[in-house]
Amino acid sequence: MKRVRIRLRGIVQGVGFRPFVHNLAARWQLAGYVLNSSAGLLAEVEGAEAAVDRFVAAVREEAPPLAWIQEMEVAEIALAGGAGFEIRASAVETGEFALISPDVATCPDCLRDCREPGNRRFGYPFTNCTNCGPRYTIIRDIPYDREATTMAQFSMCAECRKEYHDPANRRFHAQPNACPACGPSLSGELPLPSDHGLARDLVRSRDREGAVLTETREHPPACPTDAETGSAGAARSSLPGPLTEARERPQACPTDAETGSAGAPLPSLLTEARERLAAGEIVAIKGLGGFHLACDARNPAAVERLRTRKRRSDKPFALMARDLAAVEALCQVSDADRAALLGWRRPIVLLPRRPAAALPEAVAPGNRTLGVMLPYTPLHHLLFDGAPFDALVMTSGNLSEEPIVVDNQEARERIGGVAGWFLTHNRDIYMRTDDSVVRTFEGRERVLRRSRGYAPQTLDLGRTVPELLACGGELKNAFCLTKGRHAILSQHIGDLENYETLCFFEETLANLKKLFRVTPRAVAHDLHPLYLSTRYALELAGVPKIAVQHHHAHIASCMAENGLAGEVIGVAFDGTGYGTDGAIWGGEFLVAGYGGFHRRAHLRYIPLAGGDAAVRQPWRPALAYLMDTFGAGAPFEAAPPEHIRVVRRMIAAGVNSTSTSSCGRLFDAVASLAGLRQEVNFEGQAAIELEMIAEVGCAEVYPYGIDGEGPWELGFRPAIESIVRDVSSGVARGRVAAKFHNALAAATVEVCGRIAGETALRRVCLSGGTFQNMRLLGSIVAGLRARGLEVFLHARVPPNDGGIALGQAAIAARLQP
Ligand SMILES: [Zn+2]
Ligand SMILES: [Zn+2]
Ligand SMILES: [Zn+2]
Repeated sequence: MKRVRIRLRGIVQGVGFRPFVHNLAARWQLAGYVLNSSAGLLAEVEGAEAAVDRFVAAVREEAPPLAWIQEMEVAEIALAGGAGFEIRASAVETGEFALISPDVATCPDCLRDCREPGNRRFGYPFTNCTNCGPRYTIIRDIPYDREATTMAQFSMCAECRKEYHDPANRRFHAQPNACPACGPSLSGELPLPSDHGLARDLVRSRDREGAVLTETREHPPACPTDAETGSAGAARSSLPGPLTEARERPQACPTDAETGSAGAPLPSLLTEARERLAAGEIVAIKGLGGFHLACDARNPAAVERLRTRKRRSDKPFALMARDLAAVEALCQVSDADRAALLGWRRPIVLLPRRPAAALPEAVAPGNRTLGVMLPYTPLHHLLFDGAPFDALVMTSGNLSEEPIVVDNQEARERIGGVAGWFLTHNRDIYMRTDDSVVRTFEGRERVLRRSRGYAPQTLDLGRTVPELLACGGELKNAFCLTKGRHAILSQHIGDLENYETLCFFEETLANLKKLFRVTPRAVAHDLHPLYLSTRYALELAGVPKIAVQHHHAHIASCMAENGLAGEVIGVAFDGTGYGTDGAIWGGEFLVAGYGGFHRRAHLRYIPLAGGDAAVRQPWRPALAYLMDTFGAGAPFEAAPPEHIRVVRRMIAAGVNSTSTSSCGRLFDAVASLAGLRQEVNFEGQAAIELEMIAEVGCAEVYPYGIDGEGPWELGFRPAIESIVRDVSSGVARGRVAAKFHNALAAATVEVCGRIAGETALRRVCLSGGTFQNMRLLGSIVAGLRARGLEVFLHARVPPNDGGIALGQAAIAARLQP
């Protein structure tokens, strides 16, 4: 006989680990217990020695699919006797923390449940089990128990409770377990009527609501859902309010509406949503991490209307397609793409669009790729079942650059003017998360926006570090906390340019500090003094501040993600990063480690005239490049003459002009000179379009120069001369774009080769938003490998500014031991 105590750390809560252990113990007739602790999972088992050993091996080898065992500690302890195996109440240990699972897309078993007529969850949009469902978005605190989630307000019915307590059941200890009788429910809402058409709808909705109200009598009056959804009579008396609501299903007879087993079924809200979408309406749909704004992706008028109302000019919309076949009808899908689309994280995957795909141009103007995801909650699946559409635009429910809306009231106030109808529900979202965005490269998934399904999964720093906060950058902000060996990178927060986004930053920070029990001993921030993230860091009292140069952070992020130590050659290409000399950097070749960096080469400086305007108007950097190449009087006609005159004077006199080595501005300049675009509506637009038009297979290269004694200066004067000549002699834009891409790739490889020759370093890290350009990335990677250099890229962390907080944290950990 033998008794062991097992402690597990990693993602071991909310993934079916306790039932799994329970079943293993039953398999070998072991006695003991298992419980969730603040640190992870604790179990003790006692029985025949061989059985205990087999049990221990099986815990490791057969762990549930969503679990990740980071550490497993097994200690033999004194026999305690006793019979039977139990799952005990969670234990809270001060200062300890357990890793929290990201949200998990609906599993095949749950999907079967809600599609199977006669099943008690038939048609139920909140079906989940231990293998799937909401996690991070509903967890208020650890240990992960129902009381610490937004499901606390729903008390399980007898049948759900039975499943919850039955070790043989898939829903054994599934915290968000629910059914139509006891769980969350849908409601449909109309915005305030502003014309007769809407007023008519309002009446219709009230009629239905009356029908519903007669059936909700048995709902316990104390239940908080009544007050919140306003479905109880009392809340109705205040009508006409801004909205009307109707409950999806009467609480007392859960499946009547769907099975048609009793009386006249209520009109299903899902049917109504389908009909409205099919008719070209914009519908706001409350999902897992926030609201979406949805419309039929094949309806040009609907897509245009959504664009106008959302105040989003050209930025591509994400799509949700019914199934894989629907995705493949629109896009080319590789094996790696297929795995990303179908995986449990269910991100938006960027895919090459089929030229014949019948979609309105307004879905993704000027873009040869589409961002597509598959349904990931039962609500989404059920919405598509029987629908006449096979793809919906599903864009974050927000206005332009504000955070995604999560709260029902917030939705009414902020996106009430965008959507014609709301399909919402009463399960609260505690943590907002956007859809994540990935693309595949060399058969591997690469995250570009890291949020739902990925956060708050941690990254291993390889060693224990002090508790730190790294505040990240300004655009695509995400911050990073450290605890033990873990780097906890927050979900995508967004562009920290408005008050709402700063609030999102603060609420997420407070939540992650609480969930992971982090008290930062130092705080790292970007060098840029005006970033809101920098100002937030500098205002924190009583902790040391560590300023980290932007591109150093990019390279350190790539190193940390790949577990590299020592020094590497770092290439950081992006739009904007504050340099140590006060210039705007962005085309940087660093020899870097966590402890510091040496700027070995950079793109030649040009004057950036007019601050933000120079980022919005590619013709400004184009003029700067022309004047740098041909002199102050270089002819230029890409903008109104009076504007050009002013900018010329600014550049010549150095007024309101900052020097920049930005790679983003070089792309902008070439896009302007090629006549592609003189104004942009979102960050990176001109560069993306230049990539999209670049001729495939063209191997011609524009000339460039590498000069200078201190840091080398990578100059494109000869390229600019050739571009002007090509454009004036009518060479196709696609050819110009291709030759430029080839030149930048060749120059980058050559500079890296020279640095490698000088330093004997063989490892090259590529980071920065410019490396989202697949053509450039592919050429540079191939070129570096051909020179015998080893290339490291991002995969789990975004290459853009969404990844720099990890680098800041890794650098701060070195400087603050
Ligand atoms: Zn499931
Ligand atoms: Zn139930
Ligand atoms: Zn950057």
